[in-house]
Amino acid sequence: MPSRLINTFLIAFISIFLAAPAFAWDDVGHKITGYIAWQRMSPKARENVIKVLRSAPEDSHLSVYYQSYGVRSEADKQLEYFMLVPTWADIVRDRAFPVRYEKYHKGDWHYTSVFWREVGGRTELIAGKKPDGQAIEKLAEFEKALRDPAVSDRDKAIALAWFLHIGGDIHQPLHTSSRVTDLEAEGDRGGNTFLISPQGTPRADQQNLHWFWDSIVPRNIPFDFGFCEGCYVKHIAEAFTSRYSFEAEKDGLALSNYVQWKDESLKLAQTDVFRSDLKRFETPSDAYRRNALRVSEYRLTLAGYRMGETLNDIFGK
Ligand SMILES: [Zn+2]
Repeated sequence: MPSRLINTFLIAFISIFLAAPAFAWDDVGHKITGYIAWQRMSPKARENVIKVLRSAPEDSHLSVYYQSYGVRSEADKQLEYFMLVPTWADIVRDRAFPVRYEKYHKGDWHYTSVFWREVGGRTELIAGKKPDGQAIEKLAEFEKALRDPAVSDRDKAIALAWFLHIGGDIHQPLHTSSRVTDLEAEGDRGGNTFLISPQGTPRADQQNLHWFWDSIVPRNIPFDFGFCEGCYVKHIAEAFTSRYSFEAEKDGLALSNYVQWKDESLKLAQTDVFRSDLKRFETPSDAYRRNALRVSEYRLTLAGYRMGETLNDIFGK
């Protein structure tokens, strides 16, 4: 193997296994959405999507995640690759690769946070305050690029990786919300400033509400699959899709209606995230945790169906 190729593989390996990003649905969440989308996709859509992704620019490291060696079937290799792609937008946060970081990391593409507050038990939007972040605009922009025959596969690969990632993120309620309180006059940045650790906890050990929701699935479903992370993701995703079937959800997918997807999440932030039993500086109750898990399972499943059907429409013809 030429040394340049070995370097590329090493970079891919290090990025995947050491970067350990924890922003927005953590990587398990994004892989679950990828797995569910893949199950929805037609053979033609799968083939076209893999072809586009493997045309990605070399400096993105996106195409090298396709591991063509090993004894797994071609179908398994494609699925593994496709599940990894939605996590790429978090992998590029790693500053150990400054060139990739400078070119591809875009912090405010991961959310569209609407400013709101509670007044006398009711919620109201903050008049005149523009939402923070560009997730909604970017989803529409990337869908347009993916449909455009004049856009190269090279550029479509990056658009697709972002589309899959943001499509997941926008289903996390706290990616659409910035709650304004007396303590957080400029908003709570998606629950990042709302601590659930006791007051006085050293900064490095503090846990916040955003983290609680991002990581709720792997924290509540034990990993019992040796080294097979793919088996773990499959196990979880199949439990979710049997609970929330495609048949039951298909009429409410609202494909391409990113404003609706965001509005659903914002509503959940107001009703299910900031429930009256949630207290600052306290671990959320068992009842709260169980409900948060249920909401997250549903949102991840819906994101998977929406991504899969959108890609069928774009690439399945
Ligand atoms: Zn994200």
